[in-house]
Amino acid sequence: MNHFEQAMVKCVLRRTGQRKDLYHLMHKIRPKHFTAGQLHASALEHGIRVSLATVYNTIKTFELAGLVRNIAIHDHLSVYDTEIEPHAHLYNETTGEIEDLDPALLQELSIEVPDEYEISGLHLVFRLRAMKVAQA
Ligand SMILES: [Zn+2]
Repeated sequence: MNHFEQAMVKCVLRRTGQRKDLYHLMHKIRPKHFTAGQLHASALEHGIRVSLATVYNTIKTFELAGLVRNIAIHDHLSVYDTEIEPHAHLYNETTGEIEDLDPALLQELSIEVPDEYEISGLHLVFRLRAMKVAQA
């Protein structure tokens, strides 16, 4: 974490103990990619008494501060990721699991951009589903 990120974390966390608790919780929550509802449920399990609305608002604050990344899987599912470096995901429609794609696989893609541009972000989700197996 660089100096700017450290300063941002201190600034965002200074406000309330709840934010600090949620920040630490989202870094140890499993699964690693989580919905606001999952973070809320985990908070309650860990004795952090907080409303779902507060969890949503806190996550939005973290997102604005660049501490968490929103991944829109589809129209009805957004998950959050504490890994903010650009990376791609595999979403299993059958199980609902979300995994990070091996970064080495992305490096094999050679994407050309004009000389005066750079890739500033990446939002790539591969959606998987179990194939139907024909019964004999
Ligand atoms: Zn991820």
